[in-house]
Amino acid sequence: MCQHLHDPRELGDKLTPDLAPVKGMRFLDPHIHMVSRTTDDYQAMADAGIVAVIEPAFWVGQPRTGIDTFRDYYSSLLGWERFRSSQFGISHFCTLGLNSREANNEPLAEAVLELLPYFIHKEGVVGIGEIGFDDQTPAEDRFYRLQLELAKDAELPVQVHTPHRDKKRGTSRSMDIAIEHGLDPGMVIIDHNNEETVEEVLDRGFWAAFTIYPFTKMGNQRMVEIVKQYGAERIMINSAADWGISDPLAVPKTAALMKLQGISDADIELVTFKNALTAFAQSGQISEEILKQIGVDQSQKFAGNSILRGGQQPRVDKSSIVIS
Ligand SMILES: [Zn+2]
Repeated sequence: MCQHLHDPRELGDKLTPDLAPVKGMRFLDPHIHMVSRTTDDYQAMADAGIVAVIEPAFWVGQPRTGIDTFRDYYSSLLGWERFRSSQFGISHFCTLGLNSREANNEPLAEAVLELLPYFIHKEGVVGIGEIGFDDQTPAEDRFYRLQLELAKDAELPVQVHTPHRDKKRGTSRSMDIAIEHGLDPGMVIIDHNNEETVEEVLDRGFWAAFTIYPFTKMGNQRMVEIVKQYGAERIMINSAADWGISDPLAVPKTAALMKLQGISDADIELVTFKNALTAFAQSGQISEEILKQIGVDQSQKFAGNSILRGGQQPRVDKSSIVIS
């Protein structure tokens, strides 16, 4: 016996009242660390209309001690995590790179730079990321530049993490260096913007991504004000949900707030779906067509493993094309 998982848009009864205004819309969260999240999160995201995610490679909360943990992490982003996401009807993509913090362990960082070329051309890799500055050290500068060159050679978009401290200067510097290395600003997504950085990022032709953080920094009311002021062109929002206090529903919740405050459906769609798709589609690895190819079949396995535990019934959407 199978339970059917329908299109998330049909699951209105499961939506929280917060999301009622955007029932029927679809979302792409272009920055979320699903390895840190639970199956409950995946289910809630699918119910809320999230149809695709992009997971940047990042810092795992403590320093890695060897190259093999990077290898296994990249493999899991392309393997198990992608499979796990597919089991909830969510298309999973990733950006791969060396995060800024770990650039400061230079011998290890050099080994990671040798490893990356073996991974970045694999299916589902939509860019180099998240890379950039944390403390703005010379080592961070060096490995940011090396990875910009890698992205340029591979013709992949770049997802840039901007520093939380000294943000304005760090953001300007990230863009200066990208231009110095000959990258087209249209291939570079500058992340974690705020009111102080957005104007320069847009003026210089880069994509401006915003992370909605609960309780601090960029809350979603502030985000609504930014869209009212700057419009929707080249702006995208994400949750950056990870192992810390964060909200994997930040994108649909912000869409709901925008809707309630009179922002047009077309602009909401740009900011919560289309702009990210357009930016990362430049990799050739994500598109409307590719998103259509995913369905849900929880009877599928990955390397012999299922997300189901003994006695659980798989959910199968028979009308879809199955990805295994
Ligand atoms: Zn992140």
